[in-house]
Amino acid sequence: MTATAQRTDQNTLVEALINIAGEQDVVTGRVAMYAYGYDATLLFGVPRAVVFPESTQEVVDIVNYCRSAGVNIVPRGAGTNESGGTIPVDNCIIMNCCRMKKVLEVDLDNYVAIIEPGVVNYDIQEMLAKYGYYYPPDPASYKASTMGGNVGECSGGPKCFKYGVTRDYIYGMEFVTSDGKVRWVGGRDFCSEPFYDITRMMCGSEGTLGYMTKFAIRIEPIPAAKRTMLAFYNEPVDAAQSVADIVAAGIVPTTLEMMDNLIINTAEDATGAGLPRDAGAMLIIEVDGPAYGDLDDQVKTITSVVEKAKPKQFKIATTAAEVDACWLARRVAIGSVAHRAPSYSMQDITVPRSEFPQAVAGIVKTSKDFDLDIGILAHAGDGNFHPLVLFDQRNKEQSERVHKAEAALVKMALDLGGTMSGEHGVGLLKKPLLTSEYEPVTMGAFRKIKRAFDPINRMNPTKIFDL
Ligand SMILES: Cc1cc2nc3c(=O)[nH]c(=O)nc-3n(C[C@H](O)[C@H](O)[C@H](O)COP(=O)(O)OP(=O)(O)OC[C@H]3O[C@@H](n4cnc5c(N)ncnc54)[C@H](O)[C@@H]3O)c2cc1C
Repeated sequence: MTATAQRTDQNTLVEALINIAGEQDVVTGRVAMYAYGYDATLLFGVPRAVVFPESTQEVVDIVNYCRSAGVNIVPRGAGTNESGGTIPVDNCIIMNCCRMKKVLEVDLDNYVAIIEPGVVNYDIQEMLAKYGYYYPPDPASYKASTMGGNVGECSGGPKCFKYGVTRDYIYGMEFVTSDGKVRWVGGRDFCSEPFYDITRMMCGSEGTLGYMTKFAIRIEPIPAAKRTMLAFYNEPVDAAQSVADIVAAGIVPTTLEMMDNLIINTAEDATGAGLPRDAGAMLIIEVDGPAYGDLDDQVKTITSVVEKAKPKQFKIATTAAEVDACWLARRVAIGSVAHRAPSYSMQDITVPRSEFPQAVAGIVKTSKDFDLDIGILAHAGDGNFHPLVLFDQRNKEQSERVHKAEAALVKMALDLGGTMSGEHGVGLLKKPLLTSEYEPVTMGAFRKIKRAFDPINRMNPTKIFDL
C-alpha cells in the first residue's frame, strides 16, 4: 500500500483548502515550512500547506478533498511532541487543531467536560479551577500542549503515578476517519465500552487512525489539601533508593519527580528557584487528599523512609511560593538544557519501579561509557526516565556516540523488564526500535488495526511503523 498518489498541482491544493477553511486558515510557503516543519525533535520535513479547520465539518471536507487528491494528512496540535509525530511526510498537509478550541460543556454533576482538541491543557485547568475542579493529567508542557496532542500521545505527567495518564480521563471522543466518516466512540459521562475499547485505543494513536475533533474528559474536584516535600541527595542512586523505598512502603504520592545535578543546575540557571547547585539529585514529593489525618501520616512515613537514604537536606515546603518555584524549575527543565549544548536527545524509557535504582546506575554508567553528558529527569513514581543527552549535532563523531548511547539506554530498559517509551510515543524517532520490543505477531496486529481504520494510509503515514 502506498501513501502517495498522483501529485495534485500546488495552486489547486491551496485553492481547495481556502475554499473549505477560508484564506485566514491556510498557510503556505516559507512560513509553513519553517514554523510547521519541526516539532520538539531535531527532525524536519516540508509540508505543502498548513490548514486550521474550525469545525468537524471543515475537517470532514478537508479529509474528503485530500482523499480524492491523493494528499496525506499530518494532524498537529502545538507540535511539542518528542517523537517526530508531527514531522511532515511526503506530499502532505499539516491539519492543525489549534483553532478548534471551544469548551462545549462543563457538567459538574457528572464530572465531565466536552471540549475540542485545540484547547490547551493549562487553559482547561484555569477554567476548571474557578469551579474547584481540575483535569488530572498535566504534562510538563501543559502551558502549550493541546488536548489533541495529549490524547494523540496518551500523555502522562507529574501526577500520573497516583491519578493515571490521559487515557484514564477520556470517556469518549469524536473522530473523522480517512473515508470522511464522523464517529463517536465511548461514553459521554461514564466509560461505556462493554467490549472493544476503541476510545482507549485512540489514545496514543499519534494521528494514524483518524483526526480527533471532540473529547468527553473526566474532571475531578481539587483535593482539599496537599503537602510538598523536597529531598536533596549527594548521589542520584541515593535519590533512586528513596523512590523504591517510598513505593515499597505502600505510599502512592501524587508526584515523585527526580532531577540530577546537571538538570538542577540548568533549571536553576533558567529560573533562579533557589535549588542547591551542589546537590547530586533531588526529589519533589507531593501527596494530596483530605486535609487531616491520612495526609499527615503519609508525610511522617515519607520523612522516615527518605531519611534512611541520608539526604543532604529534606524539607517540607511551608509556603506556596516555595512550591511554585520548585515546580517552575521542574517544568522548564527540558527547555533549559538548550543553554548548555546546541543539541539534545531525550529518551523516554520506563522500568518497573522496583528496578528504578538499577536504571539510574545504568544511565550514570552509559554517560561514562560513551563520554557524554547525560542529565537525568524522571517521573520517578512511574519508573519513567527522560535521560537528556547533550551534544552538538554538527559533530558527526559525537552524534554517532549519542546514537549508540541511546540504543544502550533502550536495551537497558528492556533488559530490566521495561519499555522504550512511557509517554512520548513512537512517531518517527523510535520507529526503528519498535521491533526490539514487539514480536512480529504483535506488529502484525498493529498493522491490521491501522488498515481497519485507515485502509488508504492517508492519516500520518510512515509514523509508528510502515505499512
Ligand atoms: C518541555 C516539554 C515537556 C514535556 N513534558 C511532557 C510530560 O510531562 N509528559 C508527556 O507525556 N509529554 C511531555 N512532553 C511531550 C509533549 O508535550 C506531549 O506529547 C504533548 O501531549 C503533545 O501535545 P501537542 O499539542 O504539542 O501535540 P503535537 O506534538 O502537535 O501532536 C502530538 C501527536 O498527536 C497527534 N495529534 C495532534 N492533534 C491531533 C488530532 N486532533 N487528532 C489526531 N491526532 C492528533 C499528532 O499527529 C502527533 O502524533 C513534553 C514536551 C516538551 C517540549
